[in-house]
Amino acid sequence: MNTTILSLNLNRKPSVLATLLSFFLPTLALVDAAHVERNREQFVRARRAMIERDLMTRGIRDARVLEAMGAIERELFVPEKLRSLAYEDRPLSIGEGQTISQPYMVAFMTQLLSLKGTERVLEIGTGSGYQTAVLGKLAAEIYSIEIIPKLSDRAKSLLVQLGFDNVHLKVGDGFFGWAEQGPFDAILVTAAAPKIPEPLWRQLREGGRLIMPLGAERQAQTLVRVTKSDGKQVVEELTGVVFVPLTGAIRQDRR
Ligand code: SAM
Repeated sequence: MNTTILSLNLNRKPSVLATLLSFFLPTLALVDAAHVERNREQFVRARRAMIERDLMTRGIRDARVLEAMGAIERELFVPEKLRSLAYEDRPLSIGEGQTISQPYMVAFMTQLLSLKGTERVLEIGTGSGYQTAVLGKLAAEIYSIEIIPKLSDRAKSLLVQLGFDNVHLKVGDGFFGWAEQGPFDAILVTAAAPKIPEPLWRQLREGGRLIMPLGAERQAQTLVRVTKSDGKQVVEELTGVVFVPLTGAIRQDRR
């Protein structure tokens, strides 16, 4: 049997390179930590400015929504190369042909749900998970469905890392909702469709509200809030919007 014996010379002198590294590495780590801290402070300032400039002055008055959006680090939900744009009031690409919605729209739609903290909420279109995180701060349990596995996986690891234990994600077609976890007090659909998917309407509790952009792809869409009152739809048309289309079964649904 061949046996190889590896011997370590513990008495060997450290090389010049090792000596240099042992001197410079702690210094580099300090420089890096200072850089990260400076970046963090810049993001905090940018977030505060976004709250005042893009939300408060444009009618977002729900203090809980403002507090949640003031606490969540949007820069973590966008691709690294776009982080410097994280607090501009515009949608940004998150890959897979999808976008993270603009902060004002996230605030506006969340405010329309009038969450008090006890609700079960269904979100269709997890995307980056940013809107999910905002909902996670404002309601009891959040159920969010995303049709693109890569986006759902990425959002899940970030939300777990951030400590959200009231957020439940699944990959699937949001058209069908999440019947086992319903009924829901609020449903938020973050992609546009010509009509409300029937299963979502069934899973909305009496008195509950559903917010979604209604309209055909690449045509004018209207953000609506639909409240279930005595089993009937009370529809409020709110504003014109542009959202990515809801994909999946809705495209075959001709009823
Ligand atoms: N709220 C997200 C955020 O904060 O990043 C942005 C959502 S993005 C505007 C719409 C998302 O809906 C996309 O991630 C898209 O893949 C997803 N989507 C489209 N059709 C879907 C469907 N049938 N079921 C579930 N998710 C769907």
